[in-house]
Amino acid sequence: MAAGSRNQGDRSKDSVDSHSGSLDISVAFPQATPASIFPPLASDYYQFDDLLSTGEKALRKKVREFMEKEVAPIMAGYWEKAEFPFHIIPKLGDLRVAGGTIKGYGCPGFSITGSAIVISELARVDASCSTFMLVHSSLAMLTIALCGSEAQKEKYLPSLAQLQTVACWALTEPNYGSDASALNTSATKVSGGWLIDGQKRWIGNSTFADVLVVFARNTTTNQINGFIVKKGTPGLKATKMENKIGLRIVQNGDILFNKVFVPDEDKLPGVNSFQDTSKVLAVSRIMVAWQPIGISMGVFDICHRYLKERKQFGAPLAAFQLNQEKLARMLGNIQAMILVGWRLCKLYESGKMTPGQASLGKAWTSLRARETVSLGRELLGGNGILADFLVAKAFCDLEPIYSYEGTYDINTMVTAREITGIASFKPAVLGKSSRL
Ligand SMILES: Cc1cc2nc3c(=O)[nH]c(=O)nc-3n(C[C@H](O)[C@H](O)[C@H](O)COP(=O)(O)OP(=O)(O)OC[C@H]3O[C@@H](n4cnc5c(N)ncnc54)[C@H](O)[C@@H]3O)c2cc1C
Repeated sequence: MAAGSRNQGDRSKDSVDSHSGSLDISVAFPQATPASIFPPLASDYYQFDDLLSTGEKALRKKVREFMEKEVAPIMAGYWEKAEFPFHIIPKLGDLRVAGGTIKGYGCPGFSITGSAIVISELARVDASCSTFMLVHSSLAMLTIALCGSEAQKEKYLPSLAQLQTVACWALTEPNYGSDASALNTSATKVSGGWLIDGQKRWIGNSTFADVLVVFARNTTTNQINGFIVKKGTPGLKATKMENKIGLRIVQNGDILFNKVFVPDEDKLPGVNSFQDTSKVLAVSRIMVAWQPIGISMGVFDICHRYLKERKQFGAPLAAFQLNQEKLARMLGNIQAMILVGWRLCKLYESGKMTPGQASLGKAWTSLRARETVSLGRELLGGNGILADFLVAKAFCDLEPIYSYEGTYDINTMVTAREITGIASFKPAVLGKSSRL
């Protein structure tokens, strides 16, 4: 549908949306099209498609079309209610993108670039949807694929790949965020399995996940081990965290483990220390680096349309030089971010990527995106604080991304440690730096 055509056509409609009970934004604000009708792609100025294989291009198009059609019309309402649209899970499953780079076990086996494109196309329309997939696929499923036994992979991955079951990944604790390697949740060996005791915080998807990948400290070895915990296990309780200002659709949970029994067969054999999570984090940090790219692209695309539709002083907003400068600055940021993200993928694919490079990618794209979405927010004036026009929502959604999977600071320090040889995580007075 052409931009703006819905505005005209819908004038006659009842201006109260019967589904959400809220005012129909296209009637209330006839000069600009809301994000429920997503704008065409305008942010790929340097033609990123040219760097993609035929398969990757097709994948990008498929995910984009799905998000624009299925998620764009409903996202503001679910974001406002801080609820998850469970009805889209089977549709996301049909896209066959869960499992990303994992080969076999019903997973798609994409290139790392393909997997990154999926995350960024999800984020372009809705960052929560992209976070849901990232946690499920690039953290939980990947941990099972890289650190699980053959039997565990065969048992869990096929249904996770089709999103018949959903997973979460539980590392962070109330007292250990950036310092996650010091985590305190314990795993005690008992006959036939392990007893998990402790708390986790911030765990995305955990309020409804069927499969929880959990990290706990082995009380015998004092090392960190990984476990697969099933929904409904006695002693397990996940409570939704309320009042978030970003990624409101993502259901983050506080989890309590009270003597949760995990059979031996569900202990991940490949997690014998905190360092073993680094194989997973190497991939997931690339994926997180692509979220700010997708978010910024969506914001630019909305602004590009909005500035041509909305008039002030008798001229479209796009005609004002100050607005043009902001638009061009946003576009420049996005081109640089895409190229950094793409190069990160290629370094990984050639086996050359270092942890510092992944961290720099995540830290830098989230920093540039922060400027980009702020400019977008300004460009939309008052509508820049309404979730209906995407930018306000994207602006808020970027904040947790700036801080999760290693905050900006922690990721820059990982890079700085690599290039200086000096770790600065722990103040010198406290002694040896923690193992991040
Ligand atoms: C929406 C959301 C979703 C999440 N999803 C998950 C999930 O699914 N699974 C999971 O396990 N975790 C998840 N997390 C947790 C996330 O990874 C942590 O929030 C993150 O690692 C930061 O930890 P923290 O919040 O405890 O901040 P803190 O560690 O308390 O940091 C606070 C501030 O201090 C700074 N700081 C800390 N240490 C240092 C240092 N050594 N030097 C300099 N500055 C420092 C930080 O950069 C930050 O600015 C999620 C978080 C959010 C917000």
